[in-house]
Amino acid sequence: MKASLAKEVNRIVGLLLLAALAALAVGNIWPLLAGMLGYIIWSTRQLFGLYSWLVRDDHTEPPDSTGLWGEFYTRLEHLFQKERRAQENLQGIIHRAQQSVNALEDVVILIDQHGYLEYWNQAAEHYMGFNARQDLGQPLTNLIRHPKFTEYLSQGDFRDALEIPSPVDDNRILQFRVTEFGVGEQLMMARDVTRLHHLEQMRKDFVANVSHELKTPLTVLKGYLETLLDTVPEEQSRLRRALTQMDNQSNRMEALVSDLLLLARLEGTDADNLSQAVPVHGMLKRMRENALALSADKAHSIELDVTEEARLIANPAELESAFGNLITNAVKYTPAGGQIQIRWWQDERGAHLAVSDNGVGIDPAHIPRLTERFYRPDNSRVTETGGTGLGLAIVKHVMIRHNGKLEIKSELGKGSVFTCHFPADRLVSKPTAVAG
Ligand code: ADP
Repeated sequence: MKASLAKEVNRIVGLLLLAALAALAVGNIWPLLAGMLGYIIWSTRQLFGLYSWLVRDDHTEPPDSTGLWGEFYTRLEHLFQKERRAQENLQGIIHRAQQSVNALEDVVILIDQHGYLEYWNQAAEHYMGFNARQDLGQPLTNLIRHPKFTEYLSQGDFRDALEIPSPVDDNRILQFRVTEFGVGEQLMMARDVTRLHHLEQMRKDFVANVSHELKTPLTVLKGYLETLLDTVPEEQSRLRRALTQMDNQSNRMEALVSDLLLLARLEGTDADNLSQAVPVHGMLKRMRENALALSADKAHSIELDVTEEARLIANPAELESAFGNLITNAVKYTPAGGQIQIRWWQDERGAHLAVSDNGVGIDPAHIPRLTERFYRPDNSRVTETGGTGLGLAIVKHVMIRHNGKLEIKSELGKGSVFTCHFPADRLVSKPTAVAG
């Protein structure tokens, strides 16, 4: 650069000297002015040349030029070459990324902050029927119209995946997951879970069928056991003990079958269509009385805190089942003389029922798995309490069907709080302050 600059300065000085000498020779300044004008015209031409080269699409083969102008062109050409290579590199990376996303069997969809389709891979065309020409830039909810999908997107809670049939094939079940990124943008992934869904359905059907088939033989067995217990004389104490144990176990089996059937019904049918305004006060009052009867000699103190007008849009039988399980558990897992509190309150977030006890409590490590079927933190308690191991699974399903959530807080040796949270749209009356 320095050499070119020196050359340019030499060129100007040389020209000026020549023009000055000529001016001296002819005795006026015209040659000097002509020299300067010549230099200006030449520089302007170079500038025009540079401009027309810059506005060309390809910046190869710059015009011939020497000195400072030549240096300009060489430098600019290098810069353009560097930029072109970087762009090609970037395009290569984008192309490879697109190729690999297209090779995925799972659907990948990018949605902008307004909910419009920005990008999708080939699997999306296959499973969703997206068409590049007409669907790009469309709102996603116009293309996937399943009510559950619209609700899932509008709720904005993407912790759980959503399973719905494919918009182009009802027999295919897709599982959607959404990840948010950038400013309100979303990356949506969906995979075909039809096979898993069928297996799960087969499992559910199997359990429901077995439970159903067990009902009749159990009823017959129980009938005979009761008759036998009535007829066997008191003196035959060993036989009576055996029969009593058989009767107890058949009662347990009956409870198990009934809980399994209830769970199958909760899982197998869609949202409850038997919803009505349930008077919660009366229901909880009855449950408190049942709990006192169950507590019997253990003489728990059972407190109830609910307003008379509390009403919830719900399926009464399911609600009774869920609340009943929580209250029965509190009695079962609280030692004699313990305290149990049943509390209902409403606020702007919805309605809440908390069943708290100062009983045996649960190690927090077990809490995440507590609502799984037959999951018990301590197996030794099974025979003691005679539960089916399905109570909390039933509560969880009832809550899901009511768009609610079950929250569990517990400390080993101190007690537990099981809280059912219902959304505000299930309230009949406007939320009041904490109920007393
Ligand atoms: P079950 O009571 O029939 O065993 P559940 O599904 O109702 O089955 O409860 C699962 C497990 O959770 C119980 O075995 C028990 O260990 C624990 N659990 C439930 N409720 C309580 C409670 N109030 N206090 C302590 N442990 C509880």
